[in-house]
Formats: sequence, C-alpha cells, structure tokens
Amino acid sequence: MLSKARKEILIKTVTQEIPAYTMSVFKLPNTLYDEMTSMVRTFWWGQTNGRNKMAWLLWDKICIPKKDGGLGFLYLKAFNLALLTKQGWRLQTNTHSLVYHVLKARYFPHSDFLHVELGSKPSFAWQSIMAAQDVVKAGSRWEVGDGSSVQICLDKWLPTHTTFRVTSPPGTLPTDSRAHTLIDDETGEWKTDMIQQLFLPVDADAILGIPKSRNHTRDRIIWAYTPRGIFTVNSAYKRTIWSLSILNKIKSFTWRASRNALPTKVNLCHRGVLEEALCEACGLDEETGGHLFWDCTKARETWTEAGLPIDTQGHVGKELLELIVTIAWCVWYTRNKTQYGTTRQSSREIILKARSILENYQLAQLQKPQHKELADTRWIPPDYPWYKINTDAAVFSTTKSVGIGVMVRDHEGSVLAALSKCMPLPLGPLEAEAKAMDEAVSFTKDIGLQDVIFETDSTTILGALSDTSTALASIDNIKKGTHCSLQDFRRTQIQHIRRHGYRPAHILA
Ligand SMILES: [Zn+2]
Repeated sequence: MLSKARKEILIKTVTQEIPAYTMSVFKLPNTLYDEMTSMVRTFWWGQTNGRNKMAWLLWDKICIPKKDGGLGFLYLKAFNLALLTKQGWRLQTNTHSLVYHVLKARYFPHSDFLHVELGSKPSFAWQSIMAAQDVVKAGSRWEVGDGSSVQICLDKWLPTHTTFRVTSPPGTLPTDSRAHTLIDDETGEWKTDMIQQLFLPVDADAILGIPKSRNHTRDRIIWAYTPRGIFTVNSAYKRTIWSLSILNKIKSFTWRASRNALPTKVNLCHRGVLEEALCEACGLDEETGGHLFWDCTKARETWTEAGLPIDTQGHVGKELLELIVTIAWCVWYTRNKTQYGTTRQSSREIILKARSILENYQLAQLQKPQHKELADTRWIPPDYPWYKINTDAAVFSTTKSVGIGVMVRDHEGSVLAALSKCMPLPLGPLEAEAKAMDEAVSFTKDIGLQDVIFETDSTTILGALSDTSTALASIDNIKKGTHCSLQDFRRTQIQHIRRHGYRPAHILA
C-alpha cells in the first residue's frame, strides 16, 4: 500500500504535469475532466474490492491550493481554463507576436480579442481560446494613459474598487464619454475641479489617485486580478502545515486532522460503520478529534508530560508546532495500535517516541549531502578541442543479449554523435562494459575525431586500458584490441566517472 503522502506525489506527477501542454492549447471535453478526476479520486482514497472507500472530505477541499490550506491538487477544469486564459491574455496584450497576426487576420480583423465573437466556422483551437474570453474580460481592466479608449461609465478602469467601475450616477456625462475629457491636454494631469464636481468623493479619490504622466501614453489593458484577501487565523495555521520540517506522513495526518477527516469513532458512526462512539482510552466521552487529541484524560496527561512552553497568549512558533503535531501523530498511532490489541503506550513513551522521530528526521535533513555529491557525479564537458565519449552497457540475461550506448559530446556539451545498439551476445556485466568501450573506440575512429577522452564508470576497464599488462582473462582479449585501436588517435585519455554523471549513455544502452 502506498502512503497518502506518496500517493499525493504520484497523482500530481501523472495527472497534472503531463497534460499541461495539451491543456494550454485545447479545451478538454467535460467528460474527460470527469474521468480523470474520478481516477485521481479513486486512487487517492484507495479501493477495496472495487468499491470506493469512503470519501472523508469534499473533493473540492482537496483541490484547494496548499497555500490556502488544501492539499493542492489542481482542479483540472480550472487549470485548463487558466492555461487557455493565458493564451487569450497574450492575444489581447502581445500584439507583436506571429500568432496574434495569424489569428487576428482570421478571426478578429476589426476588433480586439476581448470584443470578438466566436464566428461561424471556428477551429477547435480557436474555440478553445474563446472559452477563456470571459475570464480575460473578468480579470482585466484599463490602465489610463491618454484616456482616449476608456469609456468612463462603461469600462473597468478604477484601480481601487472591487468592480473597477465608476459607482457615481452618470449625472451630466454622456454615457459614452471617454476618460480623455477628464484630462488636461496641456499638462496631462487630471482636471481636479471637474472630477470633484462630477463624481462621488469615493470615485473622485480613486481617479485622482491614478498617477498621470506628461507623456501621453496610450491606454492599455492590464490584469486586474487580486486575491480576495480573506484571511483567517485558521487558514494561516493550515498554511503552515506544509512548511513544517516533519515527515510527509505526519504532514498528511495533520492536514486530515485539521479538516476533521480522520476516521475517529464519531466519524465512523456518522458513516454507519460503527454504532458505538465511546472513547476507549477513558471510556467517558465520545471519540471526536477534539476529544482524542485534547480533552481526553489520556491526552491531557500526554500534554502535561510534554511540558510544552506555550506562552499565555497561546503563541506557537514553528519548532514548537513541529513537536506538537508529531506528538499528536504519535497519539493517533498508538490509538490505532490498540485497536489491534497492542498495549497503549504511556504518555512518557509517546513523548519520547515523538521527540526521537522529530530529531531523527531533522538530523537526516541536515546531513543530506547537498552540493558536494553533485559536483562529484556531474558530467563535465571537456576542454576545447577535446571530445568526450561516454559509454554504457546493459545486460539482458533472459534474451542473452547486451545493449550498448555511446555518446560523443564536444566542449560545449553538445551531442555530436550517439550510438545505440543491441548485440546478441551472452556477456556478463564486465564483459559488456568492455565491449561497449571497444565499440565506442571504433565508432569514434569512424567519425574521424582526433583528441578524445573516454569515460567509464568501471574501474576495472579503466585499469585495464591504462595498463599494458594482462587484464582479467575474460576481457583480456577485447582489451588488447581496444588498446590497439587507441593508438590510432592523436591524443587519448581514459577517465573514471561515477555512475550518475552520464545518464544519457545509460539510457541509450
Ligand atoms: Zn477519552
């Protein structure tokens, strides 16, 4: 069984990264979204005997971005629309592009993208982009330059309002007046008196708050989208879950706990799985999340034992939060164990376990080798005018054959030539590596290179070729041949590279 945290990663990779290109060009049919969504959902919640496990949460909550406290699975349909909107947005604002000219000539010769209608024979791609027109309309507003394009009463152009529109009654202004009537031709500044007369103070302030330039710039469409800015303590808390330095399974647990999505006894009763919701630890109250982690006498005992330094305002820093959620996970863990007959851990044992999980995890994060390892195994291009040749071999014992990969790159790292072939030879790993090196040498000779570096990850091959004495019997013969061919080049070097450095040759093989 995959853990929830691993499933999360897998789902994202498979369903969301892969179709991104298609979705940025075409609008997928609704049935396809539904199918993909249901596949993801089934996989996330797991399957038992072909029937979906109970969904503890509304699907939409899972699709909320991580920064807002959700699990961050993209809502496929919204994602598709967002990508298409980006295309539409480019059509409105980037009028120098080739695609703009092509599409404009065909679909909107006399207007701009925002005002065009679908037309009679649209292509699929054009229909797809048009699906996003409303979103572009809703998300854009004018930035006033000379004011000649902006309609005062009809367009969205005020930066401060949520509607971006003038709220004052039209008064004496004709409905189609343009914003340039409010701008002084000579100075390029707002006509302050006129604006204060015409508009309600809230609109007048918003207009006068738009900085004007003496240079008469043109009006332009800009993206007006601002986050709704709903902020709650709860969402701030959930936001931090994902930035904590704790095991992924504990993050996942915390997220589920914070959404009341754990299979506590009360939740199981609601689903009709259990009939009795009494807490087994104390036998005094129903087992809700709140009871299990905070109110239960056992829980209180654990928190007292932990002796957490929470200040009187209840402020909790990141490190403390990490310990708290790890303890909570341990409480949940031991609670689950007791369901299968294991003795309940004491508060002291729970705290010790939590501290050691946290410490081990954080130590492991610290000790993760970072740049050193990389530098060691990264492929480095040769100096000009050298060429570097990487080889690799794969042994297919069932078909008694070997795969050989050779890649030739220059000082810029560009691939000059590559060879990949399968040979029906029942070789062992070392013999296959030797064969690959021999093939690489002949191949390089064939394409006429003179200054060459051969890289191998096999120290045995390296030793054999650097030394004229006898090599291991099984490769001695082929080694002699290779050695002989090497004399035909102007300059040669044999180098050792650790395995990860030359992936491409490995893939070819
Ligand atoms: Zn209890």
